[in-house]
Amino acid sequence: MSFLNEKSWTGKIFSDGWASADGGDAPVIEPATGDEIGRTGNGNAADLARASASAATAQREWAATSFEDRAAILRKAGQLFADHAGELHGWIMRETGALAPKAELETHVAAGECFEAAALTSRPLGSVLPTPAPRMSIARRLPIGVVGVISPFNFPLILSTRSVAPALALGNAVVLKPDPRTAVTGGVIIARVFEEAGLPPGVLHVLPGGAELGQAMVEDPLVRLISFTGSSAVGRSVGEAAARRSKRVLLELGGNNALIVFDDANLELAVSAGAFGSFLHQGQICMTTGRHLVHERIKDDYVEMLAKKAELLPVGNPMTDHVALGPIIDAKQRDRVHSLVTDSVAAGAKLAAGGNYDGLFYRPTVLDNVTTTMPAYAEEVFGPVAPVVGFASVDEAVALASDTDYGLSLGIISNDVMRAVDLAGKIPAGIVHVNDQTVADEPIIPFGGVGASGNGFRVGGEANLDAFTETQWLTIRGDVPTYPF
Ligand code: NAD
Repeated sequence: MSFLNEKSWTGKIFSDGWASADGGDAPVIEPATGDEIGRTGNGNAADLARASASAATAQREWAATSFEDRAAILRKAGQLFADHAGELHGWIMRETGALAPKAELETHVAAGECFEAAALTSRPLGSVLPTPAPRMSIARRLPIGVVGVISPFNFPLILSTRSVAPALALGNAVVLKPDPRTAVTGGVIIARVFEEAGLPPGVLHVLPGGAELGQAMVEDPLVRLISFTGSSAVGRSVGEAAARRSKRVLLELGGNNALIVFDDANLELAVSAGAFGSFLHQGQICMTTGRHLVHERIKDDYVEMLAKKAELLPVGNPMTDHVALGPIIDAKQRDRVHSLVTDSVAAGAKLAAGGNYDGLFYRPTVLDNVTTTMPAYAEEVFGPVAPVVGFASVDEAVALASDTDYGLSLGIISNDVMRAVDLAGKIPAGIVHVNDQTVADEPIIPFGGVGASGNGFRVGGEANLDAFTETQWLTIRGDVPTYPF
């Protein structure tokens, strides 16, 4: 029997075991072929209410479990991701339209998230504070309760696991809502892993579903924290709804990330980095290089070399062909990408490469003669599109890179490393890579953005201690003091 054991979860949600959902079931569609490759349960508000009530009950016992036992379950979960990676890769590739290395990255980082989360369980729970009174004064961490996780379609395994694993490790229960387009990679796989790892029933619930289910989760009074990863527009509405209920919300949102290339850079390496930053996973990454800012002395050569590279990259079904890009997740996303490109071309941009598609297979696209108001430059495209704009001075590069509501990731390529480090402090961004493109992630880094890319929280490594616990001030005295009245 396979590890995933498809029969056990077909048409089901994971809520106190695999169960039928009031919301029915939904197909799993392979974007490269349009084939239905499975079915999962589809949660609705009634399913969610049952799940959060069960999670709230299970959480009390889970929080009281020895940290060693919680760590052991998380280590086992990490090992299961590693041991069954080969089987999981097939699902990840087919459901998300990914190439094999992207699928490998997902299981590798998901395993790492679990191992790091296991280590969080044994971190100090707080500190003993000085106090003028004859008492002990302690600041200590406590679990929050039930944590709601809402994740997107692009890197569903990593983006679900990076919240699920630390939330569980720190004594919370979790209700996870993956994007319905990637219900297996963002949900079912995680449920199966924690089921096999021995997580007690009720501590994790996985309900695939759409916007309505997400809204119900934000409204649910038993869900005390929402960890949301997705678009800035939806994130803002989630943040507003959470604020109305005095609910903490971690928002990890969109980006329109700049790669600044100075004229002292090795052009071949810079072009290769730029192509990778824009075209990896069809540009469907929050950290995708969305704006190439290139010194005007080398800009024309950069565009020519990038366009040549783009034209050589094969696009197709990663399961059957040797390709560099797979499909866009669905027709709606593809149409959005294409309209941003065609609107920019209508406004005067020059197509140096791409700009067309076959089905969901969008050609890697390079745009020249771009102005900063063109939509493919000004907006997050979330597709394989590289708009290139020239700059003449360091100040102009800083102004261009900063001229966006987003602030997720930034890449700076230059032989003058200290100048690049100086710019890293001047351009608002949560993540900066000197001499690299904009896409990178590791389980122990503080991940997050500024501006429209988030609400200031960081997830990953040490940051998870703050993100997934409440702090309590606790004082302890031997006897009750006397008061004047
Ligand atoms: P989206 O905001 O449409 O959907 C994300 C998740 O939210 C999905 O699970 C979706 O079902 C759910 N959702 C949709 N409407 C909702 C609502 N009203 N209330 C509650 N939940 C709701 O995002 P998308 O367009 O599918 O994903 C791509 C976006 O995600 C891009 O903007 C990308 O930059 C961003 N993203 C950010 C990060 C990060 O870590 N900062 C990582 C990956 C993707």
